[in-house]
Amino acid sequence: MESGWPKPFKVKVVEPIRLLPREERERLLEAAGYNVFNLRSQDVYVDLLTDSGTGAMSQAQWAALMEGDESYAGSRSFDLFRETVRQITGMPYVLPTHQGRAAEHVFFSVAVKAGDVVPNNNHFDTTRANLLALGARPVDLPVPEAADPEADLPFKGDMDLAALEGLLARERGRVPLVMLTLTNNTAAGQPVSLSNIRAVSQLAHAHGIPLILDAARHAENAYFIHEREPGQGGRSPLEIAREAFSLADGCLMSAKKDGLGNIGGFIALRDRELYERCRARLILVEGFPTYGGLAGRDLAALAVGLVEALDLDYLRDRVGQVRWLARRLREEGIPVYWPPGGHAVYVDAGRLLPHIPRENFPGQALVCALYLEGGIRAVEVGSVMLGKAARMELVRLAIPRRVYTREHLEWVVEAVQRVKAQAERLHGLRLVEGEGPLRHFVARFQPLA
Ligand SMILES: *Cc1c(COP(=O)(O)O)cnc(C)c1O
Repeated sequence: MESGWPKPFKVKVVEPIRLLPREERERLLEAAGYNVFNLRSQDVYVDLLTDSGTGAMSQAQWAALMEGDESYAGSRSFDLFRETVRQITGMPYVLPTHQGRAAEHVFFSVAVKAGDVVPNNNHFDTTRANLLALGARPVDLPVPEAADPEADLPFKGDMDLAALEGLLARERGRVPLVMLTLTNNTAAGQPVSLSNIRAVSQLAHAHGIPLILDAARHAENAYFIHEREPGQGGRSPLEIAREAFSLADGCLMSAKKDGLGNIGGFIALRDRELYERCRARLILVEGFPTYGGLAGRDLAALAVGLVEALDLDYLRDRVGQVRWLARRLREEGIPVYWPPGGHAVYVDAGRLLPHIPRENFPGQALVCALYLEGGIRAVEVGSVMLGKAARMELVRLAIPRRVYTREHLEWVVEAVQRVKAQAERLHGLRLVEGEGPLRHFVARFQPLA
């Protein structure tokens, strides 16, 4: 196994963390209803709940923050932000939002109506929930290999082209747009190939339908293309990202991911009329179009972060850390989704805890065990989060950007080893509270003794 790579930064500011005694963790987990979303962050040692908004900003971002222009209208920070988004996406019309789901809400409420069908390689949970809230039907069309946690293939995030073709023929007139999520978060953060983006774009456009990218992790996706797709190794992540965006008509972005921001998002579009309708809606629910729910300083920091996220050395370190953790776990005989994606390692709780039936949530049982063993906070991506749509019972260990060192990840490996050693003795859980497509955020459970 490769020993490492040159780390492209050193630490300048530290945030203290501590590991509570085991008995404390037991008490706190019970009080949280066995849902780690209910824990206080100060009671967590290594927090792998999400990579969303949890990254460390660079000195250049902090410096930009100080120059934030807080003017209500015509902010200089917005100009910088818009210019950066234009440079990367090539899309002229840019609307900032306070985060990704606000971009979804604003855009869908203009572009989608009840009864519509919206295909995606896989809808992220807020994307799905926003479409359902409008009475539309989100449809997932991943390639079949995505459901095989062992198939060692380069682009398991791709969309199934034949399935898309079939859907576009069957649902004629009911599909207002086609989406592609880069990387495919719900399918273990797997990348989408440039050739798949091209093919989806061609199919959608042949039917006169726009392609909208969910670009939350477009930079990580570009890195995988650089690394894996024939003929792409000589191109920079920025060049690749630009081509990906050039194939689309618009994008929605959670800048809490590859914007390297703690908050933020945006809508970028090519169509002026659609932009104007989104803008009217944005003013109603988010704010004036030059701030859209963000402070000027947030926009300023994002203008820097969006560029840093496409740096090759940064991406090598970022994806390298995720890959290191996945490889170490696999070496220890832990079933992990393979190959690892860009932002997280997904442990296959269905295989690690085969004695726990789906209705008793093997993923949630593993999440609880990781907190008890190591003070680690992870998230279930299985029957709790996705309900009946769940194809696998996964637990996601999401790696925040530029936050943890290899020592922290070694601690995680040791905790997972301890959980594996006592796997047969772990019990499932019963759901006692929480319903609907976003129930995982508020659910409460009872352990089955
Ligand atoms: C995080 C995320 C979103 C939603 O963004 P928020 O900023 O959390 O509201 C949408 N799509 C994908 C793929 C995401 O990962």
